[in-house]
Amino acid sequence: MAKRDYYEILQVSRNASQEEIKKAYRQQALKYHPDRNPGNKEAEEKFKEAAEAYEVLSDQQKRTRYDQFGHAGLGGANGGFGGHGMTIEDIFSQFGDIFGDFGFGGFGGFGGRTRESGRRVSKGSNLRVKVRLSLEEIFKGVEKKLKVSKYIRCDECSGTGATGGNAYTTCSTCRGSGHVTRVTSTFLGQMSTTQLCPSCEGEGKIIKSKCPKCAGEGVIRGQEVIPVKIPAGVAEGMQLSVSGKGNAARRGGINGDLLVIIEEQEHPELIREGNDLLYNLNLSFAQAALGGQIEVTTIDGKVKIKIESGTQPGKILRLRGKGLPEVNSYGHGDLLVSINVWVPKYLSKEERKVLEKLDESPNFKPEKGKADGTFFDRMRNYFE
Ligand SMILES: [Zn+2]
Ligand SMILES: [Zn+2]
Repeated sequence: MAKRDYYEILQVSRNASQEEIKKAYRQQALKYHPDRNPGNKEAEEKFKEAAEAYEVLSDQQKRTRYDQFGHAGLGGANGGFGGHGMTIEDIFSQFGDIFGDFGFGGFGGFGGRTRESGRRVSKGSNLRVKVRLSLEEIFKGVEKKLKVSKYIRCDECSGTGATGGNAYTTCSTCRGSGHVTRVTSTFLGQMSTTQLCPSCEGEGKIIKSKCPKCAGEGVIRGQEVIPVKIPAGVAEGMQLSVSGKGNAARRGGINGDLLVIIEEQEHPELIREGNDLLYNLNLSFAQAALGGQIEVTTIDGKVKIKIESGTQPGKILRLRGKGLPEVNSYGHGDLLVSINVWVPKYLSKEERKVLEKLDESPNFKPEKGKADGTFFDRMRNYFE
């Protein structure tokens, strides 16, 4: 099919001004707009044809070449333009601004196709909540149902911020692009700056009738119960991120995230040291001297451990794997049992007599303190 003359397509004279060409193209584009002619192949072809004509005639260089040499002057059969290969989406992304004045938002599908990438999509802010966990919960992992006060989607308008059909109209300030360009003259020449459109705050569209419940925001204050799975082995200050569970965004944007910050409750008997747990075991003098089965507290309940006779205070016993699990791993910490010998603070007369008697025995004579004293023994035991 032979190409039609571009001036003929737009129905303008050969010496038409740029303004006239633009106006003529708008008229053609609106007439054959796919939203007005759904499923009409002929209209679609005409729509593409008009875009091709406008693409050439709106460009002074291409127009001059076309005036001199016709279609052949544009290099190749299609003038490098793509001709019928150009998609509707291409046309919208290239000339979308043209339609802005006509309030095409009401035609539904149109709005979504134009310059989506240039527009600002709103994002809800992240929310931070603290969750306090017992050491037992950290040991096993836990699912917490967190009741969170936040912005949620408005149920009245399903988050759109608008009521009724044809709720949006293209912003006339920016013609739907979401930003405005200001040209200022400086001594260096003209400078143009692009800013977010002040009328629509970058959304490219304006609500005709605002939802009364959310005043057009699309979000309201509310509460949500959010189940959060907390893996075993987490520690104070760790942060878990639950994607999309933060504040809802204005008018159907992207939700923020929920950030869960771990707080650790103190355990009455166990101290955490990384993934290891420390337990202080107070033995009576007799227990340390005689040895035997002694009960100790672990994170998983009470267990009995064997104490050798003659166990010295300061000794540390390591119960392997009885600590906390490593978060998101198979490793386990240990339980370190630090032994202390409890010296009685008060003695009856009889007890005193018995002790004095016992102390005469050579077995009760302490060994001489060595250079590598208790502290170093403890360290050696700890790292062995
Ligand atoms: Zn609403
Ligand atoms: Zn705007």
